[in-house]
Amino acid sequence: MTEFTDALPGQTFTMVGSVKEGFETLYGIPTVALGEDDRLMALGHLPDRAVFAVLAAYHRRVWGYRILSSRELADLTRHGTKRIRITVVKGGQNDDHAWQFDDADPEDPAAQTVTLIDVELLAHEDVAVRSECPACTRASWSTSLTAGPGRAGWGRYHRCLYCHHRWPAAPAHRPDLAKHPRWMPTRPNGCFACSCLPDYPCTDGCTIEPDAVTGQLLCASCRSQHTADVWKQLVAVSYGTTTTFDGVDDQRDRWLYSEALRGIPPAQAARTWQHRLTLTSRRATPRPRTATT
Ligand SMILES: [Zn+2]
Ligand SMILES: [Zn+2]
Ligand SMILES: [Zn+2]
Repeated sequence: MTEFTDALPGQTFTMVGSVKEGFETLYGIPTVALGEDDRLMALGHLPDRAVFAVLAAYHRRVWGYRILSSRELADLTRHGTKRIRITVVKGGQNDDHAWQFDDADPEDPAAQTVTLIDVELLAHEDVAVRSECPACTRASWSTSLTAGPGRAGWGRYHRCLYCHHRWPAAPAHRPDLAKHPRWMPTRPNGCFACSCLPDYPCTDGCTIEPDAVTGQLLCASCRSQHTADVWKQLVAVSYGTTTTFDGVDDQRDRWLYSEALRGIPPAQAARTWQHRLTLTSRRATPRPRTATT
């Protein structure tokens, strides 16, 4: 067996054995990303579940994503995957590539089996610090950027795989408070708590008005989500204050609001948020190893 690193230019070599030149082991399978083609080449003919595992490992390592199951992913393992036989030739000194491959002649005894996998942007979540679902206490390790009730704009949300509740992620690090002392509204006419705009109301005929309790512009739909009493309780724990620090307080507002939506008193939600901030920053910081006997 010829190791390809020792092969002469133009000489056929095998990729089995000592695998180098850009290969890495994903899910135990030697895999290489092919140029700008956005394709992965894995050695051997992989069953669908191994294709999925290689893709998941690749996305996680390259982008820090966790792939979600989706129609695109099903299509990809079905139509975006080719199992072929190839002949590999080492590139010469003046070639751009260390090696290249062609479809193998059916008679070629040196042909190798590989699986080519299209790499596409798949539905994904970011890998995040662990957070427990407030509704059912099961843990989530990933978030996605999405809009939610309580603050206009997007924030990072966990989604429970079990009960499907979504909750705002606590930021892992409290940023320097002195740097960004003021929240600047990017949509001065929009609802503070949702994406409702005068020209693009969130529901037909929704109107936006200044709200005396919060001191913010709120749309009719948002205002009707809480009783007058709950709105007062939200304000009592500083919901809707205009200062924000790199999104920290946006997330707090989203938390207070969505907890109130499921009946949690704002004062209690404010305490659990504080607890979550502490827990999240502790979990985000690698703990020093302690000697054990
Ligand atoms: Zn849950
Ligand atoms: Zn609104
Ligand atoms: Zn609205």
